[in-house]
Amino acid sequence: MLDADFFRRWMTATAVSVDREAERLTALDSPIGDADHGSNLQRGFTAVAATLEKESPDTPGAVLTLAGRRLISTVGGASGPLYGTLLRRTGKALGEAGEVTEEQFAVALREGVDAVMTLGGAAPGDKTMIDALVPAVDALGAGFAAARAAAEEGALATTPLQARKGRASYLGERSIGHQDPGATSASLLVAALAEVAGE
Ligand code: ADP
Ligand code: MG
Repeated sequence: MLDADFFRRWMTATAVSVDREAERLTALDSPIGDADHGSNLQRGFTAVAATLEKESPDTPGAVLTLAGRRLISTVGGASGPLYGTLLRRTGKALGEAGEVTEEQFAVALREGVDAVMTLGGAAPGDKTMIDALVPAVDALGAGFAAARAAAEEGALATTPLQARKGRASYLGERSIGHQDPGATSASLLVAALAEVAGE
């Protein structure tokens, strides 16, 4: 079973990972964006970790909805509302249970990813965070390590794609040949999940 502490540790591990990889995320956002993805998420997840520490919400759903709200309020770029929606919607789908099963979490995360697609209008293959998130939820039934591998593969597979959503889409064909920063950060989020699950 996964409790509030598990989800809090997931957010903290994501904050550490985003902090460590911030320069790389910003470098990826330089040729096909505006070079702020690393700093955007660094600011956002630092605030998330601090808020969770201070308020210590006591259910999985409350941890994720609070984290999502915090991301939306601290990240100005496109990724803030998108990741914020992912976490808020996933948290909402988990309801008020004190503990949830991995299966319940997989169902909730699918709702979260669907909400991101509705909000941003991106589908798989559009060279966005969706290209890491959809393979991850698809693989989650096989465990957290499988989800991590699928997300990493999905992020790498964005390189040859032409962006159809977000800032990178303004470049048209010139977006080809660069790995998408948001798909890369999404793979960090999923890797942090595997890390806290000990897989
Ligand atoms: P901004 O583009 O506003 O500077 P960021 O640099 O923080 O925001 O985030 C860029 C990332 O957000 C992209 O690499 C992409 O993965 C993701 N993204 C942008 N637009 C969308 C969208 N409509 N749907 C899903 N993801 C998107
Ligand atoms: Mg950017």
